[in-house]
Amino acid sequence: MESKSLILVVEDDRPIRNFICVSLETEGYHYIETHTGKSAISLIASHNPDVVILDLGLPDIDGLEVIKKVRDWFRAKIIVVSARGQEREKVEALDAGADDFLTKPFSIGELMARIRVALRHVESSRSTDGTSAQEFKVGGLEIDYVKRRVYVDCQEVHLTPIEYNILTLMSQNAGKVLTHNFILKKIWGSFSENDTKSLRVFMASIRRKLEKEPAQPRYILTEVGVGYRLAEE
Ligand code: CA
Repeated sequence: MESKSLILVVEDDRPIRNFICVSLETEGYHYIETHTGKSAISLIASHNPDVVILDLGLPDIDGLEVIKKVRDWFRAKIIVVSARGQEREKVEALDAGADDFLTKPFSIGELMARIRVALRHVESSRSTDGTSAQEFKVGGLEIDYVKRRVYVDCQEVHLTPIEYNILTLMSQNAGKVLTHNFILKKIWGSFSENDTKSLRVFMASIRRKLEKEPAQPRYILTEVGVGYRLAEE
């Protein structure tokens, strides 16, 4: 990486904030920190960080409010942090434009993996040579975007057009959680709440075709109550 990435840490719980900042420093990232939502908005405006790690429960305005206030003009990545069991909040934050989430308590390894994914997407959205990838590979899974073919361990797998579109969408966002609403909107345009059920059916079918053990998926991971994530390594 030629220039060090700048990370903004927004967290009112001091021990957690310190833990995040120390980890970032150890990994060689620059960081700035704050414990309120309002100062987060002004720091985003003044420093234009590459990634924002945003706690949802803040003392003044909550994280969701911060996302709504900055998302129109702030292009970099937002990773929300929330407690286990707050799936509804996470989904709202992701649908409002957050890019990913971390569930407390999390390990340094998880935090760094999320940041790497976010930065990779920042890089790829910055590259403007107009070429897009022709294939996707993770483990034994390969997608040939040109021929619209999918292989697992070198064996071709036959997906229906919708299954293929869902898998392609996920591969273009590998490592990142996609909410049910996001997938439904991208694939079908409009949707109703009931469609979450049919999405589940499609996912089950894709898994049956891709996964050796569909109950313990290697590629398509479920984020309970939130959505799905395609493994990126
Ligand atoms: Ca908090």
